[in-house]
Amino acid sequence: MPDHTLIRSCPHCHIDRTAFSYVAHNLVTGPLSVEKGCVSAKKGTVFNTLWLCNSCNKGIGIVLKLKTDLNTYVYLDQHSISNFEELETYPVIHNMVPDGVPARIANYYSDAVKTHGMKIYHASGKLCRQVLEFALADRFPKFKGSLYERIKELSGKGMLLTEMASWANEIRELGNDAAHADPFTREEADDIMLLTEYMLVYLYTLPGIIARRALKGSAPAGGGSEEP
Ligand SMILES: [Zn+2]
Repeated sequence: MPDHTLIRSCPHCHIDRTAFSYVAHNLVTGPLSVEKGCVSAKKGTVFNTLWLCNSCNKGIGIVLKLKTDLNTYVYLDQHSISNFEELETYPVIHNMVPDGVPARIANYYSDAVKTHGMKIYHASGKLCRQVLEFALADRFPKFKGSLYERIKELSGKGMLLTEMASWANEIRELGNDAAHADPFTREEADDIMLLTEYMLVYLYTLPGIIARRALKGSAPAGGGSEEP
């Protein structure tokens, strides 16, 4: 519709500022009038619009409401986006990093999500393994050694539940495959992304919730320390 191009974050490939090309629109509701064969859209008219990401070619829908009268609906493409108020956008962009993750680790995880969105699966797999390395080093700084040794020791001491240790080992092994195996498939990339996301939830988000509730006196203290 207006301007033909929008700059915004893509909910599919997660590139921060990418161009979206206008594809189509239809009328949702509002006052249209026809005078001398020319359709005019009045202030308050609402349109569904479809746009395609120039990076990944996937679509988003934006509901736009006119803020001013337009006398040339037939030339709607030429009207500035500033004439419209954005009501809703689909799909909604969710925060890609789980709550509570420190900035440095969040940056690596964001890069993993972005490269996965761009279908650079080897890169996203390797980044996920790095995220696990850094997260375990951050949460359990006293534990040294290789990633394999740390996971084994943390599991042995009960610092990582058995299931979590097996998730961590899957991330470690998939990350190794991402660095060395050819091909590294989309299915493997999807698996390591999901495992890494839930490891971050387990290591940061859930202890953060427990600590917050403990502060309010509604849960026993103990969350947020070295023991998740
Ligand atoms: Zn995209």
